[in-house]
Amino acid sequence: MSPDLLLPTPPIVRPDKDRFLQEENPFEAMMSRFDRAAVLLDLEPGIYKVLRNPEKQIITSIPVMLDSGDVEVYTGIRVLYNTSRGPAKGGIRFDLNVTLDEVTALAAWMTWKCAVVDIPFGGSKGGVVCDPLQMSVGELERLTRRYTSSIIQTLGPDSDVPAPDVNTNERVMAWIMDTYSMHVGHTVTAVVTGKPVEMGGSRGRREATGRGCMIVTKRALEHLGMPIKGASVIVQGFGNVGSVAAQLLEREGCKIIGISDRTTGIVNPKGIDVESAIAYVAQNRTLAGFTKGDAVSNSEMLTCETDVLLPAALENVITTKNAKHIKAKVICEGANGPTTAAADAILDEKGVFVVPDILANAGGATVSYFEWVQDRQGYFWAEDNVNKSLTTIMERSFDAVLDLSTQHKVNMRTAAYMLAISRVATVHRLRGVYA
Ligand code: NAD
Repeated sequence: MSPDLLLPTPPIVRPDKDRFLQEENPFEAMMSRFDRAAVLLDLEPGIYKVLRNPEKQIITSIPVMLDSGDVEVYTGIRVLYNTSRGPAKGGIRFDLNVTLDEVTALAAWMTWKCAVVDIPFGGSKGGVVCDPLQMSVGELERLTRRYTSSIIQTLGPDSDVPAPDVNTNERVMAWIMDTYSMHVGHTVTAVVTGKPVEMGGSRGRREATGRGCMIVTKRALEHLGMPIKGASVIVQGFGNVGSVAAQLLEREGCKIIGISDRTTGIVNPKGIDVESAIAYVAQNRTLAGFTKGDAVSNSEMLTCETDVLLPAALENVITTKNAKHIKAKVICEGANGPTTAAADAILDEKGVFVVPDILANAGGATVSYFEWVQDRQGYFWAEDNVNKSLTTIMERSFDAVLDLSTQHKVNMRTAAYMLAISRVATVHRLRGVYA
């Protein structure tokens, strides 16, 4: 087993309470886009009602024995939004800001994301309200195992398959897989994805979301007739998604002129050497003190002159306050929900080409699907196969969304929602209503 498993990787993000001083509630933001697409699709009222509501919401109390010997009780949530196209798929986050609204929005996003890339999964999400930074590894393990046993009725390779999300990682997935396997009496690797490769994880999974962002950014630049070589790129967030996207875009010939994390933004119009930034973060955990450019604030960085802006950190960072100042020609949404619904209209007016989150960051869900397939077959692919298959799916999905956007004269976000919702609605029509 990799010694990495003994360490809490990736670095845990400190919960940011300001995240909820937002322009919009995440569920309402998701629903306003859903409603727009539903009207354009002329969705029948029955299916509209079904798709506007989550299938199942579980709220559970999780007692955990702390190292001190005291017992603390945490709140755990799991939402299965829609399972018409297959088992629910969606990550689990450990964060003080977890709410039922947020988890439900993220579960719906997973439903649309899996449908946009046409993988046979529905959507779910889960979370536990806790501050993992304040907990020991033993406490986190007990929390994870008790949460798993609380939602065990919904879990399973055929029903609901979790994955890592904010503040959870490969090791947490290993604990979930082990707890589930102990309950059913045999090893079931396909119950979670994002596992360590040594126990049924997929090669290429860690890089998959960033790789998917690179693939669709290239496709967007090609579509707009902008050369990839020398295209300037600013990446917000330098974690799993942002650092890999920056690294792969640099390899394609783009010039990464801005990167940031929660501590600082770094801008250098001549280009930043991404490999050295990754090495710096590996050693120092953050970009603070990285000197290969000028330090700017995160908000300043978003409005710098650039061809591509790739937000890969948090929700609701492009709002009505800053959208009018954005100078990027292309926005590739690596993060979930980085643009508020109200800011969409401003970006449209300015002619910014936005590759929406449910398409741009679907690489992770896609390779999770490959992981689930590999686990079920007991046959594991070479990394090259994973990457080629991911490229095929991302390019095909981008093209399908672009076609729809041209056909209906709508932006890429509305087109992506239309494609996703029509696929889920078709399955509901075929399956009928069981009453
Ligand atoms: P991560 O924890 O690895 O990295 C997050 C990065 O954002 C870190 O560099 C952090 O310092 C930075 N950050 C935090 N607050 C910031 C702020 N205020 N300003 C600028 N940077 C800030 O997380 P990740 O896995 O890379 O996920 C990033 C986003 O992508 C999230 O929205 C996540 O939901 C989404 N996403 C991730 C995956 C995946 O496979 N990891 C898949 C789909 C979507």
